[in-house]
Amino acid sequence: MILIRNMLGSEMGLLDLVGKVAEKIFTNGVKVHPEIAKKRLRICKGCKYLFQRTNSCLKCGCFVKIKTLYADQHCDLRRW
Ligand code: SF4
Repeated sequence: MILIRNMLGSEMGLLDLVGKVAEKIFTNGVKVHPEIAKKRLRICKGCKYLFQRTNSCLKCGCFVKIKTLYADQHCDLRRW
């Protein structure tokens, strides 16, 4: 169990790193107000296209914790 937890932990660390790199490449760096980001994330959390394990969207492939932060991003299904 500990081994699995450690493996998952390192996998999530890698995903965080990939997310941070993607953030630099694919956004304009302008963030929305934190309340708007929270509202967007809440919508994603209730969406059937969210892959819970990695917090990524199955429609666009983005990490929603990052995607929801940026002004130039939008949900492909126009949910936010
Ligand atoms: S970005 Fe849109 S489609 Fe993707 S998980 Fe969020 S609400 Fe669902």
